[in-house]
Amino acid sequence: MKWFLLSILLSTQALANLHLAPPDFETHLGKAIFVDFEKAEYNVTYNVLWKRSQVKSRIEFKADKKGFPVFDLIPGPVRAKLNGKPVSIIQTTAPDGSKLRQVNAEVGPGLHVLEMENKLSKNIRYSLRRTVSSAFWIRDLKYRKFLEQYIPSNFEFDQYQMIMNVTFSGIKKARQDIYTNGELTQTSPNSYRIVYPEYFTVSSPYFHTTPRGQKKRLDFTYKSISGRIIPITVYTSWWSHPRKFKLETEKVLKELEADYGPWAHPSFVAYETLPGTGGMEHAGATQTSFAALDHEMLHSYFAKGVMPANGNSGWIDEAIASWRDKGYQRKPLPDFVSSNLGAHSPYQRNTDKRAYALGAEFMAYLDYRLQDIGGLKAFLKGYFQAYKHTVITTEHFKNNLEFFSGLDLTHDFETYIWGENKSSEDESYEVSPVHKEINHNQLEMML
Ligand SMILES: [Zn+2]
Repeated sequence: MKWFLLSILLSTQALANLHLAPPDFETHLGKAIFVDFEKAEYNVTYNVLWKRSQVKSRIEFKADKKGFPVFDLIPGPVRAKLNGKPVSIIQTTAPDGSKLRQVNAEVGPGLHVLEMENKLSKNIRYSLRRTVSSAFWIRDLKYRKFLEQYIPSNFEFDQYQMIMNVTFSGIKKARQDIYTNGELTQTSPNSYRIVYPEYFTVSSPYFHTTPRGQKKRLDFTYKSISGRIIPITVYTSWWSHPRKFKLETEKVLKELEADYGPWAHPSFVAYETLPGTGGMEHAGATQTSFAALDHEMLHSYFAKGVMPANGNSGWIDEAIASWRDKGYQRKPLPDFVSSNLGAHSPYQRNTDKRAYALGAEFMAYLDYRLQDIGGLKAFLKGYFQAYKHTVITTEHFKNNLEFFSGLDLTHDFETYIWGENKSSEDESYEVSPVHKEINHNQLEMML
């Protein structure tokens, strides 16, 4: 019952997450304001004849005050328009020194439309046979590695409707396969439309296109404990067979549904990458080596089911996933003195690399504290049921833990999560086998 009360309180705010945005800040133009994306439509064109890739975007956003809107996009935007009038987009700097984009025009409270174009150049490989390989892969341990690498995007606090219209021009009939966690329809012999669920954030969508038949794929279904039939696609390159991914997927789904409840995404898609490359989670999707598949699937519950609002809450899902990887240990004390895992700049977007090692220790300790009431897993099951498809912060996690357990965890959070940084010296805390740092060339090889 406890869960229900809080959910009702929160549901009125669903998807309008501006209260979770970082603080607005002053720039030489005037006040930079964070805004609420309502809908983003991206027209992505791959010209397979001239080997050029381009995106035309149209974003409807809401401002709640007067100011100069901020968002992000790494490739330089051109031909931008605000409410139909030409506008320039500049690069600006947040108070912590991090970079983002700012619209060089002041808006008032209300609904606005921002349009722009940009070139796509990352993770694309054209072939001589008028086909293309391209993927919008992301990373969360490094800064500016979400969708802003490819298309104009908001920050993780925001959930909004994303639609991608993908056209393969320079050819009458596209010979492409598309793998995605959105709803895919073919709209002409050479174009497709992908509609992503409205609860998605900038780190949720999965998109990968390859020349037709290049990957080995298996499509099958899984009957959830809810009774729902979940469509699943697993695929791999020539050196492997998706059969073992299918078996592992079924095994892990069974475990996760038993522990935390029904799968919460419309489908599941998984791409097997080379051994030793780790993986990355999307919402009901992953590109991952076989060894990290279970870890990435757990993230469809914590990371992309219950979702972090910012880099200061990213530690929670890595802590839970690593705690599971290590066999759900229970410890009377964490084996570190203190850390600032959740106490970086409010503009921080990436997860602290020590979240695996230190975070798992902290979860093992919480499990010890909660042992009389079913342990941490009992809490997490309820937390997931109540807050799946919503964006959360460390404060929200702490408040709910306290609400569930009746414990006062202020001292623990102030020591281990918002405390002094006493754990940065030990390099071993920064090594994670599941989310390895891989370079640009390695990513391109996976295409
Ligand atoms: Zn992880």
